[in-house]
Amino acid sequence: VALLFYSEDDDPAAWGEALRRRLPDLDFRVWPEAGDPEDIDAALVWLPPSGMLAGLPRLKAVFSLAAGVDAMLRDPTLPDLPLCRMVDRSLTTTMGEYVLACVLWYHRSFDRYEAQQREARWQLHLPSPPEATVVGIMGMGELGAHVAGVLREQGFGVRGWSRTLKRVEGVTSFAGPEQLAEFLQPVGILVCLLPLTAETENMLDARLFGLLPRGARLIQVARGRHLVDEDLIAALNSGQLGHATLDVMRQEPLPERHPFWRHPQIRLTPHSASYSQPESGAEPVAENLRRLREGRPLLHVVDRRRGY
Ligand code: NAP
Repeated sequence: VALLFYSEDDDPAAWGEALRRRLPDLDFRVWPEAGDPEDIDAALVWLPPSGMLAGLPRLKAVFSLAAGVDAMLRDPTLPDLPLCRMVDRSLTTTMGEYVLACVLWYHRSFDRYEAQQREARWQLHLPSPPEATVVGIMGMGELGAHVAGVLREQGFGVRGWSRTLKRVEGVTSFAGPEQLAEFLQPVGILVCLLPLTAETENMLDARLFGLLPRGARLIQVARGRHLVDEDLIAALNSGQLGHATLDVMRQEPLPERHPFWRHPQIRLTPHSASYSQPESGAEPVAENLRRLREGRPLLHVVDRRRGY
């Protein structure tokens, strides 16, 4: 099988090595050194140049290096072939670490202490037990379900919201637009782990923030276009939201003049919440390459109608 690799952000040598260790006869090529386009059976990519995949006449499948495929689906030149998203242990565990770190930071009032320090104000906020902090997770898929488990282990109260109802031990579950208000009602820390689709775009807006208890905090680790930027600023300025941690932005890198950079109640990270490491991420890709070779159904195929 010949696999063509493209990514501006990932190391082709490390991916090639990790894949060849699992599939010694793999013909691994890195764009633009693709050789004869007729040879290529599959592509492992993140944000390929428009038209690159359409120029591979015998391509049978596309594997995304990322879990979220919204940007790839927006490319009108993406061939109508199975598109498989990344589901990988390192992606999942690093997301668990990131969200747990943020939840603990809020739970122990570090956002308030940071604000107090700017005013040289000494004021104690007595720690409450973790079960008194209710964390709501929007999106209970691969990442959301794992994050829910990590937070449960720490003793937090956890609620999950998804499109279809989930049964996860120790997690109070809600589904669909009709249960959104009920889900949000006691949530002190809201985590967004939804895929970006036509239904979820701009969901994090003034209306949704108004359904949270006053002073709730937001951890936004999904996609920038879920969030209405002006509504976040207004909610923070009015006190409806207490603080926000943002890992993803509408425009990345975030333009230097964007107000998020300097807002005292916003903490930013540069889309670094989680990443797929070649060592573990190569396994699901190798498994799909074996399946492709043997004509078996591929894993983690995106439902293009749903958008994830
Ligand atoms: P996933 O397994 O596909 O799970 C998506 C979840 O969202 C599912 O529970 C799904 O519900 C739910 N959902 C989808 N549309 C919905 C809607 N309209 N209303 C309510 N719930 C809805 O995805 P994942 O692997 O967990 O990844 C989630 C997202 O995280 C990715 O799409 C990506 O945008 C983001 N991400 C960010 C980073 C980062 O570094 N910041 C890294 C990786 C991923 P059902 O279960 O009912 O289908």
